[in-house]
Amino acid sequence: MASLKLSHIYKVYDNGHKAVNDFSMEIADREFIVFVGPSGCGKSTTLRMIAGLESITAGELYIGDTLVNDMEPKDRDIAMVFQSYALYPHMTVYENMAFGLRNRRMAEGEIKERVMKAAKMLDIEEYLDRKPKEMSGGQRQRVALGRALVRDPKVFLLDEPLSNLDAKLRAAMRTEITALHKSLKTTFIYVTHDQVEAMTMGTRIVVMKNGFVQQIDSPMNLYNHPKNRFVAGFIGTPQMNFFPVTLGREGDKLKVSFEHGESLVLSCEALTRIPEAYLRGEKPVIFGIRPEHLSLGTEGEGLKIRVTTVEYLGNETIVYGKPGDAPEALTVKEQTGDLVVKLIDRTDVSPGDVLYARPNPEKLHFFDGETEDSLLA
Ligand code: ADP
Repeated sequence: MASLKLSHIYKVYDNGHKAVNDFSMEIADREFIVFVGPSGCGKSTTLRMIAGLESITAGELYIGDTLVNDMEPKDRDIAMVFQSYALYPHMTVYENMAFGLRNRRMAEGEIKERVMKAAKMLDIEEYLDRKPKEMSGGQRQRVALGRALVRDPKVFLLDEPLSNLDAKLRAAMRTEITALHKSLKTTFIYVTHDQVEAMTMGTRIVVMKNGFVQQIDSPMNLYNHPKNRFVAGFIGTPQMNFFPVTLGREGDKLKVSFEHGESLVLSCEALTRIPEAYLRGEKPVIFGIRPEHLSLGTEGEGLKIRVTTVEYLGNETIVYGKPGDAPEALTVKEQTGDLVVKLIDRTDVSPGDVLYARPNPEKLHFFDGETEDSLLA
């Protein structure tokens, strides 16, 4: 059991690359923290600094109350699980799991007890005599988890542990790892580029971009109250729709004017929170609305779109449309930058249709056109 504190942590690699900048957060004991962001944003570097596999350029890292910046990895009482499994091919599953404990000169009786307990938890008891190559990817990842588990660490660090598995197995293992976290009552830090993994597993999520933390929050707050356009676009599929707009007041309503000439007049609570300069149209604004927060309305209620593509997924229908009424919208090139609408229970939409996409006024997002920070945060 352990809490962690990262205080103004920086990582500059020898080649001068600034991989992590001013990373600060406190992690409480038993939290499940997920670092998420596109490839190269500094997630693994941060995790590896916590593990002690990478030196910390500046800042302080505490595990519990102990400053561990200069502590050897083996003394940090953490265990790390990698994407590549990193199993020894010539050893059996049992030997792989026992290896680290034998290195620590633990008594064989105790080792056996720990390995059997972990094998039971992970449902791999019947494979203990097999070599890794005789097992499936999912089973190998369980062994890698088991090898971490037997060490009974204070903190589990997991670096994209499921990326080598197919979609179905990945979903199953997500559930298993979440259950494991609950039963172990230990702190987990998990790295992934997959926002669905982050949203389903994390108690709190750290969204990173280009070496900078963008937002640290619960999954629901990230979804409902993204602090900037990047977080808004990264969390949720299909992605949030964004449009450059100009804002204004019309009586007690908000007028949103789009570049292609249309405007919507909306009665919304956001009006009371948007700073005046934006409402006077003096500053550029990006309007954001999630596909699931658009529904079909009648003329005047929503943005007019001409449908370009429809995806019928059974439980929902994803409609791509070009705002405005231009018939050339039907060319493939025009389909990028479309408005995306997610509809439940509608299968009667076809390419070429003209629809009115009505935003839910409770679910609007507005960002500064230059800084891209939310105007509602
Ligand atoms: P992520 O895990 O988010 O994909 P990383 O933490 O692995 O990203 O890498 C962050 C950035 O640091 C990337 O631009 C990467 O190319 C760079 N980087 C990683 N390791 C090294 C290294 N040993 N030397 C120099 N640059 C590195």
